Amino acid sequence: MTAPIPSPESLIQTPVITRFAPAPTGYLHLGHVLNAIYVWETARASGRGGRVLLRIEDHDRTRSRPIFEVALLEDLAWLGFRADGELTRQSERSALYERALEGLRARGLTYACECSRAGIRAVAYPGTCRDKDLPEAAGFGVRVRLDSTIERFEDLRLGQQEQRPSEQCGDVLVRDRAGNWTYQFAAVVDDWLQNVNLVIRGEDLLDSTGRQIQLARLIGRAQPPAFLHHELLMKTATQKLSKSNGDTGVRDLRAKGWSPEAVIEHARALAAQSPHHPSLNHLSSDRK
Ligand SMILES: [Zn+2]
Repeated sequence: MTAPIPSPESLIQTPVITRFAPAPTGYLHLGHVLNAIYVWETARASGRGGRVLLRIEDHDRTRSRPIFEVALLEDLAWLGFRADGELTRQSERSALYERALEGLRARGLTYACECSRAGIRAVAYPGTCRDKDLPEAAGFGVRVRLDSTIERFEDLRLGQQEQRPSEQCGDVLVRDRAGNWTYQFAAVVDDWLQNVNLVIRGEDLLDSTGRQIQLARLIGRAQPPAFLHHELLMKTATQKLSKSNGDTGVRDLRAKGWSPEAVIEHARALAAQSPHHPSLNHLSSDRK
């Protein structure tokens, strides 16, 4: 059984420049392995010049641990996935995010926000601080004003999608009250600066695609990347496989004597059993 690999289509640029971007907040598990299969095989299938960048998404300083980064890189090498070019760490790119934020600020697109996550009851941020004119100071977050544009894009696996980020999530947080850059912002800036033209990730992130496309445009990216959202590994038809299930860690399988090939085949076999996304082509909302 093999996971379906998309053929390069006109809507993606070739050769593909994509990235594998784990957060060092835990060990490598089978969900990462499936993502790596998609990422490397799609880049390699796009011809000579296809590239996979390796990015450590350690933007959240409170949850990231060097020990996990070391383990992630070791497990990835053991599986045989080799990245192209230098590894980058989001924790070392703060000046680049600051510069992107400055561009938004200069156009009046940002504002400080004093709301705590717990204080926001609605699914979408309701714009509480939009007109408060709060100072951008320690203890305040920073948000970007979104307009009400409907973002339409074609997912390489799931087809035509449309999302309205202003209703789904409201103005996007780019830096939180603790001073951490958010995943949404750091990833969009990195994808732009690194010329990533195809983002490959799990279906659980489908709903955040519209806001990332809008953010990319706002920071000045002329052509946002294409997206491919792959299936998630399921333990049962309704239960997502997660690291908390205990039997999915690459380290654990290594310790039990599995070979890299067997781990990769296992991830492919589980993917082949995964049900399709239950609600495609919808204007949906989530909490991210
Ligand atoms: Zn607020």
